[in-house]
This record gives sequence, structure tokens and C-alpha cells, in this order.
Amino acid sequence: MIYLDYTATTPVDDEILDTYIKSTKTFFANSSSIHMLGQRSNHMIEVCSQTIFDCLDIKNHNIIYTTNATEANNIGILGYCNKYHGQGKKIITTKIEHASVFNVFKSLENDFDVCYLDINQNGLVDLDKLEKEMDKNVVLISIMWTNNIIGTIQNVKEIINIVKRYKTAKLHVDCVQGICKVKPDFDFNDIDMFTISSHKIYGPKGIAALLVKRSIELNPIIYGSNAQFGLKPGTMDVALISAFAKAIKKYTVLIDKNREYVKRLWLRLYEGLKNNKKIVINTPLDNISYYIMNISIPGVKGETTIHKLENYEIYISTGSACSSKIEKPEKTVLALTKSNDLALSAVRISLSFLTKDEEIDEFIKVMELI
Ligand code: PMP
Repeated sequence: MIYLDYTATTPVDDEILDTYIKSTKTFFANSSSIHMLGQRSNHMIEVCSQTIFDCLDIKNHNIIYTTNATEANNIGILGYCNKYHGQGKKIITTKIEHASVFNVFKSLENDFDVCYLDINQNGLVDLDKLEKEMDKNVVLISIMWTNNIIGTIQNVKEIINIVKRYKTAKLHVDCVQGICKVKPDFDFNDIDMFTISSHKIYGPKGIAALLVKRSIELNPIIYGSNAQFGLKPGTMDVALISAFAKAIKKYTVLIDKNREYVKRLWLRLYEGLKNNKKIVINTPLDNISYYIMNISIPGVKGETTIHKLENYEIYISTGSACSSKIEKPEKTVLALTKSNDLALSAVRISLSFLTKDEEIDEFIKVMELI
């Protein structure tokens, strides 16, 4: 089997699984219980949160643990828009956001003037356009860091500088595909809200987080107890949180090493595919994470390519796993290439430090055959 779908999810790291098992046995008590066992669980959560704050070097954010990044994006964006809609009626995002951001903005179209920024041929958000769209009426901007379909890295530093000039505007950044994979050239302390997820970084599924500046209040979209500022009430899983913190701690220090490794693989893949006449390589060459390569085989639906590769026990995706059953032009590839054909025939290969040279070579060989 050759698994090249690490952007969809990663296998759990043994050491992280071990942390989970130990923690689930030790900290089984409900962290909301006021007895000593409960308070031990609560303390463990605080220790994990501090680990995450230290790894990301953040000082002024609260952390809200969620089930996945989809939930975190919803809690942040809807929570902010519901709370601060009186301050302005305009919100800005991009055409290339993950569905868990994009569709939240779609759902707000009745209440807000929503702007979807385009990307240029390098896969980058047009920042001149962002500047032009900014005014006193803007309450929220959500722009992702690393794209999950084509792998481009947005200029978050410059976006922060633009947004900072407007007092009422706040910035949300989906950091799911950047965290522990790309070294930030910006300061997380300058971002009002951001989202991270454990299962993309060799942690378990079922745990992610929204980090929100302490000065920001959000309206809840789920109601229950006042746990987690009332934003994600319900019993917390200390073991999942321990494993998530462990994943962040372990993989933060490996960012450079792993990125160098996958960059080499990415270039090997690029060299191997670029002369294949059937294939168009959609991912640009610059400002990319090197964990993702998006390609198209014009005239062949992405889904067909996926199933052909399955016969060789090679597993890749058409794009975001959550929407991959829907036969629509992939919206990020469409925004990048402006070609319906390329967007319908796009597939995504995604890499890991676990990927071997031989797997890349085998993939290249099979792509010649199918
Ligand atoms: N944002 C991005 C950029 C993603 O790649 C994903 C996962 N496909 C998500 C959000 C949603 O993450 P989760 O699976 O944790 O809900």
C-alpha cells in the first residue's frame, strides 16, 4: 500500500498514542467535578494548554478545545459575527477556503455583505484587492495560512499588517495545514483567532482547537454548561487534549527537518511527473508547503483517477475529503487555473516524513501506466 493522502489525515504516532493511553487511564475523572480527582484532570488540561501556548509562543489567547477544526472554524466565525454584527456589515474571506470556513461565510450572506477574494496565478490572495475591500464596515476577515488543495502559503504577515489598520476588523486564520509543517514568518499573537487540528499532525482524531484573543468575546453556537467559556460546553477528554499537546510539542521542533525531507520528495515527484504528457501540475513552484502537489489529467475525472490508482493500492484524494464525493469542479483549482476541465480532473498527492523515495517512484511509474 502507498498512502499519499496525509493532508486528509495522518496515522497516529505511537508515542502520541501512548500519551493518550496513559492519560485516559490516569485522568478519567470529569474535569468539571469539584473533587480532587476532577481538579487533577482540570490541572492536566491547564498544563497541556500551557504546552501549546509555549510551542506557539502565544501569550494573550484563550484556547477552546473542539472535536475538529470544522467545529472550531464555525465557533469562531459564527460566534464573532453574531456578537459583533452591530459594528459593521461586511465580512471578507477567499475563494479557496476549506468548506468549514467557506460555507460558514455562505451561510452569513443574508446578514452580511460577503466578499470572496480571488487568488492570482501563483495561488496567492490578491492583497491589493484586500486593501481595496477594507473599510470601517468590515468586522471579520478569514484567510487560511496553508491551502489544503494546492499547498500555497498565504502572506499572513502582510495580511496582519493590512487588517491592523482597521480597529473594528478582526482576523481569523485557518492554520490547520500550516501548524507543525511550516515555520511561521508571523507572530501568532497578532492573529485574533486561529484554528488548529490534531489529526493532521499525527495526533488522534476528535480533537482540535480555536485560539481566541482574550479581549474578544464570542456568542455561543452550542448551549450547555459554562465549560470552555460556554463556547464548547460538555465533558472534556483530557487524554485527547494530552495527545494533541504532545503532537504539537513533538512536531514543532521537527518542522525544518521534516520540511526539508518532503521538499526533496516533492521535487523528485515534480521531476518524475513533469514530462508525463497527460499531466498538468497545478501547484505553483513558489510559496508552497511542499506537503501537497495538485495535478490534473485533463479529460479524466479526478474520481476516476483515484479509483484507477486504488487498483495499484495507491491512495490519494481529489481534494478535501469532506467534499470529495461531490462531482463539482474543485473550487481552489478553478480559482487558480480558471479552467473547468483542470478543476474537474484535479487530484491531490500529499506527503509526509513517512513517505519513502520508492513510493514516489512507484507513483510516478503507475501514472505512466494509467
Ligand atoms: N481547514 C483545513 C485547511 C483543512 O485541511 C481541514 C481538513 N480537511 C479542515 C479545516 C477541517 O479539519 P477537521 O477535519 O479537523 O474538521
